[in-house]
Amino acid sequence: MAEQPELTVQGWGPPGTRVAHVAEGGTLELTADKSLAKALPKAARKHLARELGWTPRRTPPVPLDDVELAASRLPVPVRAELVTLLGQENVRDDRGSRLRRTGGKSYLDLVRRRSGDASDAPDAVLTPADTAEVVAVLQLCSRHGVVVVPFGGGTSVVGGLSGTDVDDRPVVVLDLARMSGLVSVDVPSSLVTAGPGMRGPALEDALAEHDLTLGHLPQSWEFATLGGYAATRSAGQASTGVGRFEDLVASLTLATPSGVLEVGHPPASAAGPDLLGLALGSEGTLGVITELTLRVRPRPEVEEYEGWSFRSWAAGLAALQRLARHDLLPDVVRLSDPDETRANLLLSGGAGARALRGALRSRGHGSGCLLVVGWQGLPTLVRARQRAATSLLREDGGKRAGSRVGEAWVRHRFEGPYLRDRLLDHGLLVETLETAATWSALPTVYDAARRALREALAGPGKQPLVMTHVSHGYATGASLYLTVLADRDDDLPLQQWLGAKRASTDAVLAAGGTLTHHHAVGADHRPWLDREVGPLGVDVLRAVKASLDPAGICNPGVLLPS
Ligand SMILES: Cc1cc2nc3c(=O)[nH]c(=O)nc-3n(C[C@H](O)[C@H](O)[C@H](O)COP(=O)(O)OP(=O)(O)OC[C@H]3O[C@@H](n4cnc5c(N)ncnc54)[C@H](O)[C@@H]3O)c2cc1C
Repeated sequence: MAEQPELTVQGWGPPGTRVAHVAEGGTLELTADKSLAKALPKAARKHLARELGWTPRRTPPVPLDDVELAASRLPVPVRAELVTLLGQENVRDDRGSRLRRTGGKSYLDLVRRRSGDASDAPDAVLTPADTAEVVAVLQLCSRHGVVVVPFGGGTSVVGGLSGTDVDDRPVVVLDLARMSGLVSVDVPSSLVTAGPGMRGPALEDALAEHDLTLGHLPQSWEFATLGGYAATRSAGQASTGVGRFEDLVASLTLATPSGVLEVGHPPASAAGPDLLGLALGSEGTLGVITELTLRVRPRPEVEEYEGWSFRSWAAGLAALQRLARHDLLPDVVRLSDPDETRANLLLSGGAGARALRGALRSRGHGSGCLLVVGWQGLPTLVRARQRAATSLLREDGGKRAGSRVGEAWVRHRFEGPYLRDRLLDHGLLVETLETAATWSALPTVYDAARRALREALAGPGKQPLVMTHVSHGYATGASLYLTVLADRDDDLPLQQWLGAKRASTDAVLAAGGTLTHHHAVGADHRPWLDREVGPLGVDVLRAVKASLDPAGICNPGVLLPS
């Protein structure tokens, strides 16, 4: 079994975390070195300091013991009833349990925790064992007016675990860690049933025994859970090929205060509107996903990754669009814009970076764009798809940068969050945002998002670095994933990012982008939900919530506008 490291309260995983490395069947050791000097090459530090107007400085989190935590507000009689239901050991209100389940891993969450603020901590943490216990907890909490926030891996980056409530009711977190077992594997039907608290590495380990894989690999894969993926409509690094997580869910069980919903009927059904779609992306607002049946596939016999370079972003986008039109998109598609390509070269060392630098220079693409592509499956099919895509990429001006570039990406693909901790320790703002747009709207959305971020975060002698890549391709369009680095405003760090987030979200929506492509709505995007689904769409969601959760206790701080 893969190891199960815990997320840290003020950052990502602990140093020395080991990641089962699906692609190579081995194990990758992440050292997560504490010092910036080791995490970031000297040239990169100098370059970033110059480009951002950043003065590298020590901005460590306050010691964990100094994080402020108010006393639990859970009424004693309610606590006693919960203990009767779940057992003493599954109702916790000690400091460690509450702090470890406080918020998620967005920049805002981390800045709060790093400054010692845990005002959004839950009043207690419950660990139920099965669907019946979850329903019983939801009904008990409905009776007593206690808010329930489902907690999977705690990796939300949109304030999905904020637990805010307009009526300021007590809040319990329902941690699904005990519901993390494999229930069944139906090999002929390519279906696996598992608990919502199961993490990606554990599932992949279990499936490997049957020569199967799910293939869902978001960057948060070490910690995020199956229930969390479904509740947020997550997308993984190979989603262009295997599909988004919602495409992988065949059916699920949703425990609600009004009872249990079983939705989804594989292989297919025409019995009215698909209620499964209501549970996917519901972010805990309708109840708790307590079991999932997922579509799996044979483990790929081969995986091929390679780098390509393009003279410009426009040329790279045009090439991807043509691949999409001919149904030739690889399983992994990542096209980095010139800023991200340049940053990749600066931030990473080693053979991959050397190979990429050489490839870009020798092909006259010195300030061009890197495309990483990956194919998975049977050798004959991979070869045929690769050959067909290669000829289109060449026709569109792409130059092959080689497999070392692709393999370097595979090796380092889970390391970004560890580096983020080190950058936060040294006075930087580091955050990401994402959207999707049709191929026609993509260039406008890209320009609008970048311009808004740059304007919002610029100051005297300061300029943010905004790096973008296409992370998932579709026949109709693609997603854009933006990473922002800026010198942090040490006095008003929250306001600094909130202003940039507001400006960029407005700009993205006005240009025709979606509110989110895979991070979900959470607390951070909820003010804009009606811009995407319309006021009537919001009313429909409210009506469904009123039916399943009449007391409004299920994660009321997210998704629906307040
Ligand atoms: C460094 C980093 C990298 C990331 N990379 C990706 C990526 O590549 N792709 C991607 O899609 N996302 C990514 N994310 C975002 C995050 O990992 C996903 O949103 C993930 O799906 C959340 O899963 P989780 O188990 O951690 O859920 P949590 O963070 O615990 O919860 C997320 C939301 O779902 C609700 N929820 C959780 N479990 C259940 C359940 N069983 N029933 C009902 N509601 C539930 C919670 O209440 C909350 O609103 C990343 C996040 C980080 C910090």
